[in-house]
Amino acid sequence: MKRFLVRPRTKMDLSRQNPRDTGPFNGGKKEGLAQLARVTEELVELQRLLYAEHGPRLLVVLQAMDTAGKDGTIRHVFGPLNPQGVQVRSFKKPTPRELDHDYLWRVHPFVPGRGEITIFNRSHYEDVLVVRVHGLVPEEVWRRRYRHIVEFERLLTDEGTTILKFFLHISKEEQKERLEARLADPTKSWKFSNADLAERQLWPDYMTAYEEVLNRTSARLAPWYVIPSDRKWFRNLAVATIVRDTLQSMKLHYPEPDEDLDGIVVE
Ligand code: ATP
Ligand code: MG
Repeated sequence: MKRFLVRPRTKMDLSRQNPRDTGPFNGGKKEGLAQLARVTEELVELQRLLYAEHGPRLLVVLQAMDTAGKDGTIRHVFGPLNPQGVQVRSFKKPTPRELDHDYLWRVHPFVPGRGEITIFNRSHYEDVLVVRVHGLVPEEVWRRRYRHIVEFERLLTDEGTTILKFFLHISKEEQKERLEARLADPTKSWKFSNADLAERQLWPDYMTAYEEVLNRTSARLAPWYVIPSDRKWFRNLAVATIVRDTLQSMKLHYPEPDEDLDGIVVE
Protein backbone atom coordinates (compact mmCIF):
# COMPACT_ATOMS: atom_id res chain seq x y z
CA MET A 1 0.00 0.00 0.00
CA LYS A 2 3.08 2.23 0.21
CA ARG A 3 2.59 3.12 -3.45
CA PHE A 4 -0.43 5.23 -2.51
CA LEU A 5 1.49 7.23 0.10
CA VAL A 6 2.20 10.86 -0.78
CA ARG A 7 5.78 11.51 0.30
CA PRO A 8 6.24 14.93 1.92
CA ARG A 9 6.78 17.72 -0.59
CA THR A 10 6.31 15.59 -3.71
CA LYS A 11 4.62 17.30 -6.61
CA MET A 12 1.37 15.42 -7.07
CA ASP A 13 -0.19 15.14 -10.52
CA LEU A 14 -3.59 13.55 -9.97
CA SER A 15 -4.13 13.04 -13.69
CA ARG A 16 -1.35 10.43 -13.51
CA GLN A 17 -2.97 8.50 -10.66
CA ASN A 18 -5.27 5.80 -11.99
CA PRO A 19 -8.54 5.64 -9.99
CA ARG A 20 -9.14 2.11 -11.32
CA ASP A 21 -5.84 0.80 -9.99
CA THR A 22 -6.23 -2.32 -7.89
CA GLY A 23 -2.61 -2.62 -6.80
CA PRO A 24 -1.45 -6.20 -6.51
CA PHE A 25 -5.02 -7.56 -6.65
CA ASN A 26 -5.15 -9.10 -10.07
CA GLY A 27 -7.54 -11.69 -8.67
CA GLY A 28 -10.20 -8.99 -8.60
CA LYS A 29 -13.19 -8.42 -6.38
CA LYS A 30 -13.73 -11.92 -5.03
CA GLU A 31 -10.17 -12.26 -3.77
CA GLY A 32 -10.24 -8.65 -2.59
CA LEU A 33 -13.35 -9.20 -0.45
CA ALA A 34 -11.84 -12.33 1.11
CA GLN A 35 -8.74 -10.33 1.96
CA LEU A 36 -10.89 -7.52 3.42
CA ALA A 37 -12.56 -10.03 5.74
CA ARG A 38 -9.13 -11.12 7.04
CA VAL A 39 -7.90 -7.56 7.47
CA THR A 40 -11.14 -6.63 9.27
CA GLU A 41 -10.60 -9.39 11.84
CA GLU A 42 -7.16 -8.00 12.57
CA LEU A 43 -8.51 -4.46 12.75
CA VAL A 44 -11.11 -5.50 15.32
CA GLU A 45 -8.37 -7.09 17.48
CA LEU A 46 -6.12 -4.04 17.17
CA GLN A 47 -8.92 -1.66 18.12
CA ARG A 48 -9.58 -3.73 21.26
CA LEU A 49 -5.95 -3.20 22.16
CA LEU A 50 -6.05 0.52 21.41
CA TYR A 51 -9.15 0.91 23.55
CA ALA A 52 -7.75 -1.18 26.41
CA GLU A 53 -4.42 0.60 26.48
CA HIS A 54 -6.22 3.95 26.73
CA GLY A 55 -3.13 5.85 25.58
CA PRO A 56 -2.53 6.45 21.87
CA ARG A 57 -5.22 7.95 19.65
CA LEU A 58 -5.95 7.68 15.94
CA LEU A 59 -7.41 10.37 13.71
CA VAL A 60 -8.55 9.37 10.22
CA VAL A 61 -9.34 12.16 7.76
CA LEU A 62 -11.50 11.38 4.72
CA GLN A 63 -11.65 13.83 1.85
CA ALA A 64 -13.12 13.30 -1.61
CA MET A 65 -15.28 14.60 -4.40
CA ASP A 66 -19.02 13.81 -4.08
CA THR A 67 -19.94 10.12 -4.52
CA ALA A 68 -16.35 8.93 -4.05
CA GLY A 69 -17.47 6.93 -1.05
CA LYS A 70 -16.67 8.61 2.22
CA ASP A 71 -19.88 7.19 3.71
CA GLY A 72 -19.28 3.73 2.26
CA THR A 73 -15.74 3.65 3.59
CA ILE A 74 -16.94 4.56 7.07
CA ARG A 75 -19.62 1.85 6.95
CA HIS A 76 -17.49 -0.94 5.52
CA VAL A 77 -14.11 -0.32 7.13
CA PHE A 78 -15.05 1.09 10.53
CA GLY A 79 -18.55 -0.38 10.90
CA PRO A 80 -17.30 -3.69 12.32
CA LEU A 81 -15.35 -2.00 15.13
CA ASN A 82 -16.54 -1.53 18.71
CA PRO A 83 -18.65 1.65 18.54
CA GLN A 84 -17.60 2.64 22.06
CA GLY A 85 -14.16 3.48 20.76
CA VAL A 86 -15.08 5.03 17.43
CA GLN A 87 -16.45 8.47 16.68
CA VAL A 88 -17.43 9.94 13.37
CA ARG A 89 -17.57 13.68 12.89
CA SER A 90 -18.93 15.20 9.67
CA PHE A 91 -18.00 18.74 8.71
CA LYS A 92 -20.68 20.47 6.67
CA LYS A 93 -21.10 24.05 5.62
CA PRO A 94 -20.11 26.09 8.70
CA THR A 95 -22.90 27.51 10.86
CA PRO A 96 -23.02 31.27 11.55
CA ARG A 97 -21.58 30.60 15.00
CA GLU A 98 -18.73 28.56 13.52
CA LEU A 99 -18.06 31.33 11.00
CA ASP A 100 -17.70 33.76 13.90
CA HIS A 101 -14.52 31.90 14.87
CA ASP A 102 -11.31 30.80 13.20
CA TYR A 103 -11.74 27.75 10.97
CA LEU A 104 -10.00 25.33 13.34
CA TRP A 105 -12.25 26.25 16.24
CA ARG A 106 -14.94 23.77 15.25
CA VAL A 107 -12.43 21.01 14.63
CA HIS A 108 -10.29 20.77 17.74
CA PRO A 109 -13.02 19.63 20.18
CA PHE A 110 -13.60 16.51 18.08
CA VAL A 111 -10.08 15.12 17.81
CA PRO A 112 -9.80 11.65 19.40
CA GLY A 113 -9.23 11.11 23.09
CA ARG A 114 -7.06 8.33 24.55
CA GLY A 115 -7.84 4.94 23.09
CA GLU A 116 -10.23 6.36 20.52
CA ILE A 117 -10.42 6.32 16.75
CA THR A 118 -12.07 9.39 15.25
CA ILE A 119 -13.03 9.62 11.61
CA PHE A 120 -13.45 13.03 10.05
CA ASN A 121 -15.96 12.92 7.18
CA ARG A 122 -14.62 16.06 5.50
CA SER A 123 -12.43 18.19 7.71
CA HIS A 124 -10.42 21.38 8.16
CA TYR A 125 -9.14 20.70 4.63
CA GLU A 126 -12.44 22.07 3.29
CA ASP A 127 -11.04 25.44 4.30
CA VAL A 128 -8.39 25.20 1.57
CA LEU A 129 -10.60 23.25 -0.88
CA VAL A 130 -14.21 24.41 -1.27
CA VAL A 131 -13.25 27.75 0.26
CA ARG A 132 -10.46 28.20 -2.29
CA VAL A 133 -12.44 26.97 -5.30
CA HIS A 134 -15.37 29.28 -4.50
CA GLY A 135 -13.22 32.19 -3.38
CA LEU A 136 -15.05 32.36 -0.04
CA VAL A 137 -12.08 34.20 1.47
CA PRO A 138 -9.28 36.11 -0.30
CA GLU A 139 -6.28 34.13 -1.52
CA GLU A 140 -3.89 35.55 1.07
CA VAL A 141 -6.20 34.21 3.76
CA TRP A 142 -6.52 30.61 2.50
CA ARG A 143 -2.86 30.50 1.48
CA ARG A 144 -1.73 30.96 5.08
CA ARG A 145 -3.85 28.04 6.13
CA TYR A 146 -1.52 25.31 4.82
CA ARG A 147 0.97 26.42 7.44
CA HIS A 148 -1.66 26.51 10.20
CA ILE A 149 -2.89 23.06 9.25
CA VAL A 150 0.58 21.53 9.26
CA GLU A 151 1.25 23.14 12.66
CA PHE A 152 -2.13 22.08 14.08
CA GLU A 153 -1.54 18.48 13.01
CA ARG A 154 1.98 18.69 14.40
CA LEU A 155 0.52 19.70 17.75
CA LEU A 156 -1.73 16.65 17.67
CA THR A 157 1.03 14.20 16.71
CA ASP A 158 3.44 15.70 19.28
CA GLU A 159 0.82 15.04 21.94
CA GLY A 160 0.29 11.39 20.99
CA THR A 161 -2.24 11.29 18.15
CA THR A 162 -1.49 9.32 15.02
CA ILE A 163 -3.00 10.86 11.89
CA LEU A 164 -3.92 9.21 8.59
CA LYS A 165 -5.40 11.19 5.72
CA PHE A 166 -7.13 9.59 2.75
CA PHE A 167 -8.08 11.23 -0.51
CA LEU A 168 -10.60 8.90 -2.15
CA HIS A 169 -9.79 9.40 -5.79
CA ILE A 170 -12.52 8.73 -8.36
CA SER A 171 -12.61 9.59 -12.04
CA LYS A 172 -15.03 12.14 -13.41
CA GLU A 173 -16.61 9.38 -15.53
CA GLU A 174 -17.20 7.20 -12.49
CA GLN A 175 -18.83 10.15 -10.71
CA LYS A 176 -21.19 10.58 -13.66
CA GLU A 177 -22.31 6.96 -13.32
CA ARG A 178 -22.77 7.25 -9.60
CA LEU A 179 -24.77 10.48 -9.87
CA GLU A 180 -26.96 8.85 -12.52
CA ALA A 181 -27.46 5.90 -10.22
CA ARG A 182 -28.51 8.27 -7.43
CA LEU A 183 -31.08 9.84 -9.75
CA ALA A 184 -32.49 6.52 -10.87
CA ASP A 185 -32.66 4.65 -7.56
CA PRO A 186 -35.24 5.80 -4.99
CA THR A 187 -33.11 4.36 -2.19
CA LYS A 188 -30.25 6.63 -3.25
CA SER A 189 -31.99 9.71 -4.57
CA TRP A 190 -32.18 11.31 -1.12
CA LYS A 191 -28.44 11.75 -1.47
CA PHE A 192 -28.70 13.61 -4.74
CA SER A 193 -28.26 17.33 -4.63
CA ASN A 194 -28.26 19.79 -7.49
CA ALA A 195 -25.29 21.42 -5.82
CA ASP A 196 -23.28 18.28 -6.66
CA LEU A 197 -23.70 19.11 -10.36
CA ALA A 198 -22.35 22.61 -9.83
CA GLU A 199 -19.33 21.23 -7.98
CA ARG A 200 -18.79 18.71 -10.78
CA GLN A 201 -18.43 21.61 -13.22
CA LEU A 202 -15.52 22.82 -11.11
CA TRP A 203 -13.68 19.46 -11.29
CA PRO A 204 -10.35 20.84 -12.65
CA ASP A 205 -10.27 23.56 -9.97
CA TYR A 206 -10.85 20.96 -7.27
CA MET A 207 -8.07 18.76 -8.65
CA THR A 208 -5.66 21.72 -8.55
CA ALA A 209 -6.72 22.50 -4.98
CA TYR A 210 -6.32 18.84 -3.93
CA GLU A 211 -2.89 18.62 -5.56
CA GLU A 212 -1.70 21.58 -3.52
CA VAL A 213 -3.11 20.08 -0.33
CA LEU A 214 -1.33 16.79 -1.00
CA ASN A 215 1.89 18.54 -1.89
CA ARG A 216 1.97 20.89 1.09
CA THR A 217 0.43 18.97 3.95
CA SER A 218 1.62 15.37 3.69
CA ALA A 219 3.96 14.88 6.63
CA ARG A 220 5.84 11.86 7.94
CA LEU A 221 3.58 11.66 10.99
CA ALA A 222 0.43 12.87 9.23
CA PRO A 223 0.66 11.37 5.74
CA TRP A 224 -1.80 11.59 2.88
CA TYR A 225 -2.71 8.54 0.83
CA VAL A 226 -4.34 8.82 -2.60
CA ILE A 227 -6.70 5.84 -2.70
CA PRO A 228 -7.92 4.62 -6.12
CA SER A 229 -11.66 4.58 -5.51
CA ASP A 230 -13.45 3.74 -8.75
CA ARG A 231 -13.71 0.19 -7.44
CA LYS A 232 -15.39 0.23 -4.06
CA TRP A 233 -14.01 -3.12 -2.91
CA PHE A 234 -10.46 -1.95 -3.57
CA ARG A 235 -11.03 1.40 -1.87
CA ASN A 236 -12.27 -0.35 1.27
CA LEU A 237 -9.45 -2.87 1.21
CA ALA A 238 -6.77 -0.21 0.75
CA VAL A 239 -8.05 1.98 3.60
CA ALA A 240 -8.55 -0.99 5.93
CA THR A 241 -5.07 -2.31 5.20
CA ILE A 242 -3.38 1.04 5.81
CA VAL A 243 -5.27 1.53 9.09
CA ARG A 244 -4.36 -2.03 10.13
CA ASP A 245 -0.69 -1.53 9.28
CA THR A 246 -0.63 1.77 11.15
CA LEU A 247 -2.20 0.29 14.30
CA GLN A 248 0.24 -2.60 14.10
CA SER A 249 3.19 -0.22 13.92
CA MET A 250 1.97 1.50 17.09
CA LYS A 251 3.12 -1.51 19.16
CA LEU A 252 -0.02 -1.55 21.29
CA HIS A 253 -0.33 -3.76 24.34
CA TYR A 254 -2.90 -4.60 26.99
CA PRO A 255 -2.27 -2.75 30.25
CA GLU A 256 -0.91 -4.72 33.18
CA PRO A 257 -3.56 -5.51 35.82
CA ASP A 258 -3.39 -3.30 38.90
CA GLU A 259 -2.46 -6.11 41.26
CA ASP A 260 -0.77 -9.48 41.24
CA LEU A 261 -3.50 -11.89 40.11
CA ASP A 262 -1.63 -15.09 41.03
CA GLY A 263 -3.56 -17.26 43.38
CA ILE A 264 -6.76 -15.18 43.32
CA VAL A 265 -9.79 -17.42 43.48
CA VAL A 266 -13.28 -16.24 42.54
CA GLU A 267 -15.67 -17.92 44.98
P1 ATP B 1 -22.98 13.19 0.99
O1 ATP B 1 -21.96 12.22 0.47
O2 ATP B 1 -24.03 12.53 1.80
O3 ATP B 1 -23.47 14.14 -0.06
P2 ATP B 1 -21.45 15.39 1.97
O4 ATP B 1 -20.22 15.33 2.82
O5 ATP B 1 -21.24 15.78 0.55
O6 ATP B 1 -22.16 14.03 2.08
P3 ATP B 1 -23.34 17.48 2.10
O7 ATP B 1 -24.24 17.95 3.18
O8 ATP B 1 -23.88 17.08 0.78
O9 ATP B 1 -22.46 16.32 2.71
O10 ATP B 1 -22.25 18.59 1.81
C1 ATP B 1 -21.54 19.23 2.78
C2 ATP B 1 -21.01 20.45 2.10
O11 ATP B 1 -20.42 21.30 3.06
C3 ATP B 1 -19.96 20.14 1.06
O12 ATP B 1 -20.31 20.70 -0.16
C4 ATP B 1 -18.71 20.78 1.62
O13 ATP B 1 -17.85 21.26 0.62
C5 ATP B 1 -19.31 21.89 2.46
N1 ATP B 1 -18.37 22.36 3.46
C6 ATP B 1 -17.70 21.64 4.38
N2 ATP B 1 -16.86 22.43 5.09
C7 ATP B 1 -16.97 23.67 4.58
C8 ATP B 1 -16.34 24.90 4.87
N3 ATP B 1 -15.44 25.01 5.84
N4 ATP B 1 -16.73 25.98 4.17
C9 ATP B 1 -17.64 25.88 3.19
N5 ATP B 1 -18.26 24.73 2.87
C10 ATP B 1 -17.94 23.63 3.54
MG1 MG C 1 -22.87 15.92 -0.89
